[in-house]
Amino acid sequence: MSFEIRNVSVVGAGVMGHGIAQVFAMNGYQVNLVDISHEILDKAIGKIRWSLDRLAEKGKLKEDISSVISRIKPNVNLLDAVKDADLVIEAVSERIDLKTKVFAEVDSVAPKHCILCSNTSGLPITLMAEATKRPEKVLGMHWFNPPQLMRLIEVVKTKYTTNETANLIYELAKKLGKTPIMVDRDVRDFIANRIYRTIRYEAYLMFLRGEAKPVEIDSTCRYKLKLPMGPFELADFTGAVDLEISADMAIKEILEKCPEWEPQKEFLTFREAALKLAKEYYDKGLLGVKSGEGFYKYPEPGKWVKVDMPEEVAEKVDPLQIVAPAINASAWLIRNNVVTAEDIDNSLKLGYNFPTGLLEFADEKGLDSVVDVLKAKTERVKEPYRAFYKPDNLLLNLLNEGKLGKRNGEGFYKY
Ligand code: NAD
Repeated sequence: MSFEIRNVSVVGAGVMGHGIAQVFAMNGYQVNLVDISHEILDKAIGKIRWSLDRLAEKGKLKEDISSVISRIKPNVNLLDAVKDADLVIEAVSERIDLKTKVFAEVDSVAPKHCILCSNTSGLPITLMAEATKRPEKVLGMHWFNPPQLMRLIEVVKTKYTTNETANLIYELAKKLGKTPIMVDRDVRDFIANRIYRTIRYEAYLMFLRGEAKPVEIDSTCRYKLKLPMGPFELADFTGAVDLEISADMAIKEILEKCPEWEPQKEFLTFREAALKLAKEYYDKGLLGVKSGEGFYKYPEPGKWVKVDMPEEVAEKVDPLQIVAPAINASAWLIRNNVVTAEDIDNSLKLGYNFPTGLLEFADEKGLDSVVDVLKAKTERVKEPYRAFYKPDNLLLNLLNEGKLGKRNGEGFYKY
């Protein structure tokens, strides 16, 4: 591509947008930061200043705070802010109607060469691309929170995105000091969130089926898998119950417009079954830390304290029971050339602080054990819920070839 990215516009100056703008400004780019009011933009600049102060204190800033800030131009006029942009990153609220509107508006004035990225956490970028006249230059650039610190960036291609555009954004992410992974297809929730969500849903389902209590599952994740938090603790922390039930309303409509958004149809029934638990908690107002109680109790609404979790109860749950469906979902993504095994593991290590990759863990345990757990789960549930647990052909093929994992030299990885 015959141009260099110099001018970047970040649309939406909230939690993510202000951090993304800061990272670009720290790397010498001119940034237009857009939001709907001066008040929001003032707050965003205040947060950037605070963050730069912290970095300067730690000696991690190469220049004056004022020089970095001088490269960020707050702007309430979207069209003015993107008219000279080489790259636009959309980070407005997570609503598809709003995002497609922003993409159409940006497309109408941005220079022809300008690349348009969305920072959506998992909405279809395909629909955003279709709202423009340059779908080949539209893709996902999915940052993690906080953008200033988190290294992972998922670069997400739609069926329209050219390799040239995707490679340019991939290289740009590296220049910014990040670790990008290439996601070859616009699948719902992309990689880290999609795989982690599978772990959370299976945790919900194990609880619903009476197989284990939240504290037993979380304790297993904390003490055996060495994750920073278990899926229930994390759901309380992030307000996942609220987010998932609120988002659920728009999902049917999105799937009608863009059925390929969820290419693994059995994921829909799996999710639907798991969200019965989220709905129960949602209806009771048990939204987690923000309401003062969720799967655990907190001292008061909005006050998080680390959940006191006995290590002994971890003995009740085999970690493979919790993660086998996520290993299966990973196999689906690899078999369909969406992403590599290494990048699935990288995404979980960098996006969710896994100490060991999920597929490294699968190889360690043995793929025959993974398949046994999945087969036992299919026996435990009725149709239509069986399909999701059916071992993926990639796993079955590896077993047929005698590639059982680390103990005999090959599984997802070669040893
Ligand atoms: P946020 O609510 O903090 O910020 C969104 C901002 O968009 C708000 O300041 C809002 O005023 C602004 N906005 C709304 N309509 C606008 C318009 N027409 N023009 C300009 N600005 C507009 O949300 P957030 O957490 O920063 O999330 C932004 C995006 O990033 C979402 O797509 C979200 O899914 C994604 N994301 C969030 C996280 C996270 O942890 N918060 C992580 C990764 C990705």
